[in-house]
Amino acid sequence: MLLSEFAANAELKYELSNIMLKNTLPHAVIIEGAVGTGRKTIADIIAQYCVCSSDSQKPCGICRNCIKADQHIHPDIFYADGNEPKALSVDSIRNIRSSAYIMPNEAPMKAYLLLNCDKMLPPAQNAFLKILEEPPQNVQFIMTVRSSSSLLQTVRSRSRIFSLFPAEVNDAAAIAAKRFPQKDISEIKNIAQLCDGNIGMTLQMLQNGGQEAQKLAEEIFASIMLSSEYPLLQSLQQLAGDRNFAASVLDFMSELAAECVRASIGADVYSKTAAAIAERYSKKRIFCISENILYARKVLNTNVNLNLFCTWLCSVLKS
Ligand SMILES: [Zn+2]
Repeated sequence: MLLSEFAANAELKYELSNIMLKNTLPHAVIIEGAVGTGRKTIADIIAQYCVCSSDSQKPCGICRNCIKADQHIHPDIFYADGNEPKALSVDSIRNIRSSAYIMPNEAPMKAYLLLNCDKMLPPAQNAFLKILEEPPQNVQFIMTVRSSSSLLQTVRSRSRIFSLFPAEVNDAAAIAAKRFPQKDISEIKNIAQLCDGNIGMTLQMLQNGGQEAQKLAEEIFASIMLSSEYPLLQSLQQLAGDRNFAASVLDFMSELAAECVRASIGADVYSKTAAAIAERYSKKRIFCISENILYARKVLNTNVNLNLFCTWLCSVLKS
């Protein structure tokens, strides 16, 4: 993808294209933003810029190096993803350190992409700091992270930080509509709105059930208010069949919980169920529901048994 094709984030695109034009990219950059805002896409564009062999504007998108970068097969672009076990451990960082001093294979520069650095613990960050203090020539480090505050001040101060933000809801919906031409536009807009313009999350929700997931999330919230536990359990059991669908429903549930919190402090909200919950329960109970849903979303990423998960979730939402 070219930088100009990247959605929203006009300020970042302006800054980055200026830096690329003037060839003044600092040797380490941090790209911060929520999951789904395009951190990896920007990291890939910077990596392509680093390996591009064009004499004019980089990345040109058409040279051999750019094409290999696009296909993720360039031998001078290295990935270490914090979501994979030990990928950003002290040992892995030491390996990166020793390989970084070896000259690039084919491109003018090497690029190291350290993804999801939220998972990089302080000892590994300190090991990484040693490279940043004496950076090898012809090497670019690109880190992605939810918030740069997860990184040590010493790492942050030696890097340039770029922040990514969600798109406008209408822009996010337009992009999603191109990707899902068969889906109803009002459903797409509704989901883009729920995701606050986060394009990645909108696409993921459309992929994983969209409207159906949203309906079920509303149904679960309405069941919380009923005196009997049975309807809630029955609704939650619909999560047991498909982990991706369950994840999508829980994402909608955390949006709804956030709506409940907003409603409890007197803000206008779009969901009638959220408004009803806010009227009925104390702020403390609403925060508790919200916390439990966030925790449940994390639990779902583990190898949990889905039937047990549904029963457990029912008991914590009712307590
Ligand atoms: Zn190129």
